[in-house]
Amino acid sequence: MDEYIDRQAVKKALRDYFDDPVAWEDVGGLVAQICDEIIDDIPAVDICARPKGEWIEDMTDMFGFVRCSECGRLEEYPQFFCPHCGADLREDKDNAAP
Ligand SMILES: [Zn+2]
Repeated sequence: MDEYIDRQAVKKALRDYFDDPVAWEDVGGLVAQICDEIIDDIPAVDICARPKGEWIEDMTDMFGFVRCSECGRLEEYPQFFCPHCGADLREDKDNAAP
């Protein structure tokens, strides 16, 4: 599964890292600026675009769990979204609230 991080938090972490004048002398600010520019050039990802799937009954044991069609993880009962991969598992995806 993809992971998403905050662009500004990455830039701050890099600025803090390169802000050590002993380790980076006078080039730390320049390196941090270059990192900012590289990070700004990375396109944003639409994390609201969820994969769509369905819950599949899994009767391999006597408890009757449901399995996410997208990631294959088991849950005790169907939910609107898979808590593991975020897939939209609502039955009526067109008319349900986002
Ligand atoms: Zn899933």
